[in-house]
Amino acid sequence: MHYTAPVSSSQLSSRLSLAKQKLLDELKAGGISDECVLEAIASIPREAFVAKPFVQDSYENRALPIGEGQTISQPYVVALMTHAADVQSHHKVLEIGTGSGYQAAILCKLVRRLFTIERFDSLRLKAEKLLHSIGIFNFSSKTGDGSKGWAEQAPFDRIIVTAASPTVPPSLLEQLANSGILIIPVGEPDGEQKLMRYTKKTDGSIAEYCLGPVRFVPLVGEEGAADKNIVSNGGNGR
Ligand code: SAM
Repeated sequence: MHYTAPVSSSQLSSRLSLAKQKLLDELKAGGISDECVLEAIASIPREAFVAKPFVQDSYENRALPIGEGQTISQPYVVALMTHAADVQSHHKVLEIGTGSGYQAAILCKLVRRLFTIERFDSLRLKAEKLLHSIGIFNFSSKTGDGSKGWAEQAPFDRIIVTAASPTVPPSLLEQLANSGILIIPVGEPDGEQKLMRYTKKTDGSIAEYCLGPVRFVPLVGEEGAADKNIVSNGGNGR
């Protein structure tokens, strides 16, 4: 019979801090050079955002289950999206897909105010409580279909979508400020997905740039999603 010795809380916390440093080194080696983004990641305890059975895996560079068939995104992808969005401390930012609240926590460290939308009330409420418990208050959240954006609060300097949509929801482009940036995974739920950056120029035209292949859970909404009755395919996405 195989016996695994229980891990004390001080052993766990020293393992987690070593794993966090290793992850930060991996992010740097992977091209995340923005010190502000790395500092924000270093300051947020990812272990607080993952489901209990996965706490020991908190700093592995992979997506983990958070309930409701959804996932906390892979740390490299969170870093890449935040870096690619080029967020600044005066920015007002919209996030679609609050999930665990982890990406929201990192954004709140970097920007003036975050607005975040989640379709599952249970996840939103849990994330809101968790963010408050770690001293983060510069955000507003609501439950709903984020593919329609948050018109009352627009325009946004940056919009970050953490679920994949077959097409770009038109409302999100409309709600982007001039010179604003939208980061969104575009593609089918079980097909090819690309992380895209859209920049709204001062003349209103949109420039697009592909950041590379990704794998996300689907954006389930009225705008953009190919099938609005689509059902989330569970925990294999980012
Ligand atoms: N940012 C999250 C984090 O740090 O944990 C990752 C979230 S997970 C990859 C994507 C989230 O998008 C899921 O929680 C899912 O419920 C949510 N979602 C999917 N479609 C949505 C929609 N139309 N509006 C709002 N949230 C949506």
